[in-house]
Amino acid sequence: MSKDQQVIIHGKVFELFLEKKDIKKAIKEMAGKINDHYGDQSITVIGVLDGVFMVLADLLKRLKMPVSLELVKLKSYQGMQSSGSVSKLLGLTSGLKDHHVLIVEDIIDTGETLGYLLQELRKEQAASIQIASLLLKPSVFKNRFPLEYVGLEIPERFVVGYGMDYDGEGRQLPHVYALSGSESLP
Ligand code: 5GP
Ligand code: MG
Repeated sequence: MSKDQQVIIHGKVFELFLEKKDIKKAIKEMAGKINDHYGDQSITVIGVLDGVFMVLADLLKRLKMPVSLELVKLKSYQGMQSSGSVSKLLGLTSGLKDHHVLIVEDIIDTGETLGYLLQELRKEQAASIQIASLLLKPSVFKNRFPLEYVGLEIPERFVVGYGMDYDGEGRQLPHVYALSGSESLP
């Protein structure tokens, strides 16, 4: 078995789930659709930290319109379970009135986090708001709002790598790994 086939994080086994080349392809396709939609229109990208940093790095290099970047934080996750409650929006440095806003996420699970962010951003009176996420778990997402750009739909499994962590570790992994079926959530 090649050494990339599995990783162990905090004693849990994670198996290779999405290879770097498939992730890059999904990002390239999302970027193409975003470029087609906005054309030359300036946009403000809102990246939701921490998990989105690798997606942002790859996606933004492919966007052709003028882009302003805002990095925000909202935490809804403790360990492997979505807490279902989000505390606070941190890090927005400028007003968004009349801006065309593109929110970028690494993964959408229940959509709670984004639901909260959208509610906060609506107060800013942006000209438009769209959402791009590398991954989506459609079986969990509550469909409370439209998702304009989704890289890949995945089953309800806990994943790490490519920016995403398990209790703080695993973000640097170039591929995405899923918790092994033989492991259980704490
Ligand atoms: P939601 O609010 O949609 O349930 O969860 C959204 C956030 O939870 C994501 O931005 C991400 O930070 C985290 N998250 C959701 N699913 C996973 C997962 O499978 N793995 C990791 N590492 N984080 C996840
Ligand atoms: Mg995220």
